[in-house]
Amino acid sequence: MSVLYRVLKLLRPYRLSLMVGLLCLLLSTGAMLLQPVFWQKMVDQVLDKKQTDLFWPLILAMLGCGVLNAFCGGLRSWLLERTGQKFVLELRRSLYAHLQSQSLSFFHDRRTGDLISRVIGDIDTLQEVVINGIDGFLSNILSMIGVAVVLVLYNWKLGLATVAPVFVTFTLMYRYNKKVKPVYRAARDKLGDVSSKLQENLTGVQSVKAFAREEQAASKFEETIRAFFMQNLLGISLRTKFMPAVQFISHVGSFISIGYGAYLVMNKEVSVGVLVACRGYWWQLYGPVYSIAGINDMLQRASAAGGRVFDLLDTKPELSDAPNAIELPKVKGEVVFHHVSFNYASRNGIVKDLSLRVPAGTRVGLAGPSGAGKSTLLNLIPRFYDPQSGSISIDGHDLKSVTQSSLRRQIGMVLQESFLFNDSILENIRFGRPSATREEAERAARDANAHEFIEKLPKGYDTMVGERGVKLSGGQRQRIAIARAFLANPAILLLDEATSAVEPESEAIIQQALDRLMSGRTTFVISHRLSIIRACDLIVILENGVRIEQGSHQELLDGNGLYAQMYRMQMEGAPSAAQLAAGGGK
Ligand code: ATP
Repeated sequence: MSVLYRVLKLLRPYRLSLMVGLLCLLLSTGAMLLQPVFWQKMVDQVLDKKQTDLFWPLILAMLGCGVLNAFCGGLRSWLLERTGQKFVLELRRSLYAHLQSQSLSFFHDRRTGDLISRVIGDIDTLQEVVINGIDGFLSNILSMIGVAVVLVLYNWKLGLATVAPVFVTFTLMYRYNKKVKPVYRAARDKLGDVSSKLQENLTGVQSVKAFAREEQAASKFEETIRAFFMQNLLGISLRTKFMPAVQFISHVGSFISIGYGAYLVMNKEVSVGVLVACRGYWWQLYGPVYSIAGINDMLQRASAAGGRVFDLLDTKPELSDAPNAIELPKVKGEVVFHHVSFNYASRNGIVKDLSLRVPAGTRVGLAGPSGAGKSTLLNLIPRFYDPQSGSISIDGHDLKSVTQSSLRRQIGMVLQESFLFNDSILENIRFGRPSATREEAERAARDANAHEFIEKLPKGYDTMVGERGVKLSGGQRQRIAIARAFLANPAILLLDEATSAVEPESEAIIQQALDRLMSGRTTFVISHRLSIIRACDLIVILENGVRIEQGSHQELLDGNGLYAQMYRMQMEGAPSAAQLAAGGGK
């Protein structure tokens, strides 16, 4: 389906504004079309045949047409521009909602900068079509057709001779569009590359500086902007051949119309007044033709941008709620894995045939070598991914039978790096439950051992944390994340290396807060520090996606398997290559 057709479909709700706009367009075009008729009458009847009583009526008629044209033109622009802005607002809203409905793998396979470029830049380009494109295209097409018809009616021979070159222009435009479309699309894609590279370099600025790799980062950015520049040059080179060609054809049209017109006047086939009127119409014919050529170019660029927007909108979410999905009722937190196997699109055997029953309130420790599949297993519980086979249930409800939002509301997560928004501390805590009062948020912060440090900040709970929380320490960020989880009060808690990235003294405070948070909730804990894992009720050891051991700390020590080996190594405090390989992935 062409981009323009889809844009028109999306414009359906605004059809009333569009129709009034079009009516204004018809009136203002008609008013302009009448002008040369008055010129002709002025020349032939007032000047030539001395019918002076027609002088003032003709002047008033011309003025009236001018006023009508200005009023209708203004109203039309206002209506269409407003419609264009509303259309863009709606498109951005639905594109954002569509992005949010996508699964995690969608975002892993795409570049954030490119997605931003589609939501911002590409939609902006599309906005131009709605505001200036449709308006300009229709008004010019309409006046061009009107003028062509009037010209032919005036004198069919002179009319056809004047109009004929227009067909050549349109044939040329058709061929130009075929060539320029892929060039413009590639240019939009390259702009997406620029946005991605910029986003990556800015996000990773600390690493760039730490390794003194500014030059390397700049040269990679230079490569991307140069590729964009070269692609734009290709477009410019096509455009700068096409537009002068259109101009040249219009000049040829002018010679034909004047030459042939003069010949007809000399042969007394038409009056001088008709020739004057036809000259007036010539301007009104080729002005729109030239404008259409320009608008066509804008439409091609917008079509390339629109293609990128609609490509996104057409991506079906990999994971969606079943049509008959129910709201997950408040759960106690029993989690059951039933013969679960999971692969990433590009990697097989990440989790292999895992069955596990975790009674409500149990603390499960997941350990094993780096890359064993621990985090992946955790991500299956909130349904960030669906297993290829087997099933997972919570309190007997298959995850696929409940809505994703009702499921995730009952699950809290604290990861190694917690993401904070560039907002106040209070709002970041309230992210766990937006309806919470300030007092509830403060209580959650106290439970998370965060209240004390927050109070010491210059603006307390109203302190802005900076992008991704950069103005706080790692340990402080973790405590805000824990406060969030307290506020959300989930039945199930997922902790993935929640204390790994913080200093030992901070770790003790965080661990204390986590112990409080875990109390009475089903908790899955991933940690390479086995001192944390040993306190769990049940420990599961994974290797290459397979559960190789399971039991309590004592049972696993007695079993003398991988866990016992890893534990002894850590307790003896002798770091070795084997130990690093076994636990140090995070
Ligand atoms: P670590 O302790 O090092 O964090 P882990 O046991 O948590 O490791 P996972 O993060 O679950 O391991 O990764 C399991 C395997 O899946 C790894 O081999 C990893 O390379 C791969 N993997 C992880 N995420 C993806 C992804 N989005 N796409 C493809 N492969 C992935």
